[in-house]
Amino acid sequence: MSIKIENLTHIYMPRSPFEKVALDNVDIEFESGQFIALIGHTGSGKSTLIQHLNGLLKPSSGKILIDDVDITEKGVKLSDIRKKVGLVFQYPEYQLFEETIEKDIQFGPRNLGLNEQEIDKRVKRAMAMVGLDYETYKDKSPFELSGGQKRRVAIAGVVAMEPRILILDEPTAGLDPKGRDEILAQIKSLHQEYNMTIILVSHSMEDVAKLAERVVVMNRGKAILDGTPSEVFKEVETLEEVGLAVPQVTYLARALKKRGFAISDEIFTVEQAREAILKVLKNN
Ligand code: ADP
Repeated sequence: MSIKIENLTHIYMPRSPFEKVALDNVDIEFESGQFIALIGHTGSGKSTLIQHLNGLLKPSSGKILIDDVDITEKGVKLSDIRKKVGLVFQYPEYQLFEETIEKDIQFGPRNLGLNEQEIDKRVKRAMAMVGLDYETYKDKSPFELSGGQKRRVAIAGVVAMEPRILILDEPTAGLDPKGRDEILAQIKSLHQEYNMTIILVSHSMEDVAKLAERVVVMNRGKAILDGTPSEVFKEVETLEEVGLAVPQVTYLARALKKRGFAISDEIFTVEQAREAILKVLKNN
């Protein structure tokens, strides 16, 4: 299942004094099974882009083809798109509202018009996929949970619709380090074990370096860089020009190299840095 974004432009409040071109002729193809990170300064167009991918926003011009079906055409049902593309908003736990976790997760699949048996199956599967034990949690109120757990329930609600493509907008925002690690591990497992295509909007270059296979950088409504984390994080100057940075360990490696240490400046994760520094120490 692929997503092809062709010449996508989105203008908010067109022909008004508040007109804003949020996406400007964007052309991207996301292949099935990839783990893609979408990065960019606030206001660069990330949210606008991802809201087009599940039909929440309509383009001002351009097309979005999912499995070669143009979802921007009239007559395409939103429920059909959402069976394929799940979108987890920022702070999704604010949208939890049912009295039990089970009921909350049932909401999405029920809206797809599935029968009770299928809904039940999907709720159990979705809870397992996000690491919540069904019997322990099903009758609890979502509001009794920790921040990280609440967020997992919200993600399970989207996962229960069994999309092949899962888009997450800043899924670790506002969580403590333990909650962050848990959520990221779950997302990694959705990708690796269940082969979901993941599009992750993130401000954490460390998370991006650790998880993504491909990084797309947005600036002023355009995709300005697109490549593997190594390819993108090599472009330190370009990233800094658009208000972004490379992972902290990359700066460290570059500083060490500048001081004459024989260390690669293509170091993007703490693990890579650890190995490279140990090697330098051993050789000295
Ligand atoms: P990001 O997710 O990267 O922060 P957005 O897609 O939210 O970027 O915003 C892109 C641009 O569109 C920004 O200039 C923002 O102010 C503007 N924008 C976003 N949403 C709206 C809206 N509902 N109405 C008008 N302008 C908007």
